[in-house]
Amino acid sequence: MKAVVYEGPRQVRVKDVPDARIERPTDVLVRITSANICGSDLHMYEGRTDFEAGRWFGHENLGQVVEIGAGVDKVQVGDWVVLPFNIACGHCKNCERQLTNYCLTAQPEPKMAGAAYGFADMGPYGGGQAELLRVPWGDFNCLRLGEDAEQRQTDYVMLADIFPTGYHATELAGVQPGDQTVIYGAGPVGLMAALSATIRGRAR
Ligand SMILES: [Zn+2]
Ligand SMILES: [Zn+2]
Repeated sequence: MKAVVYEGPRQVRVKDVPDARIERPTDVLVRITSANICGSDLHMYEGRTDFEAGRWFGHENLGQVVEIGAGVDKVQVGDWVVLPFNIACGHCKNCERQLTNYCLTAQPEPKMAGAAYGFADMGPYGGGQAELLRVPWGDFNCLRLGEDAEQRQTDYVMLADIFPTGYHATELAGVQPGDQTVIYGAGPVGLMAALSATIRGRAR
């Protein structure tokens, strides 16, 4: 398959890499049709992290399921799915507290917590700026989409990171109906925070 491969600071190239595949019974294999470039991809692209040369980016992913492992119950071949960027097992101590960004199972390094697709220090997982993506614990990590998924995939792909990240800022800030809300920064996440404040009923 082709993927956006990191070769060193400011050097990425679309190259052939081994196909992503089902490795464990709980895996789902997704043919990626939309993927965002994140601000945090730029940290890696610019060489400000210890992302290893030869790995590929992409943690904001959407596509269609092409294969499922024998232990997958809910997700089916043909489903359109968006993948929240954190890879989580769904059943460890942190996942059970909904702290899925600090999953203890998906991160192989015992001193750390949390995993993500194609991300420095977040486990060995491949990214989705590629033709195929392996999704571990597919039943937990695949958000299944409705009938309009294919037509509106450029909207839904924002559920992988940008929209919930902006929304979470309004959650942490405790935005209430009638509030005045100020957002510093108007990149994609800031704009999603503004939309989220509107959804939560901000007055101004
Ligand atoms: Zn992101
Ligand atoms: Zn977990």
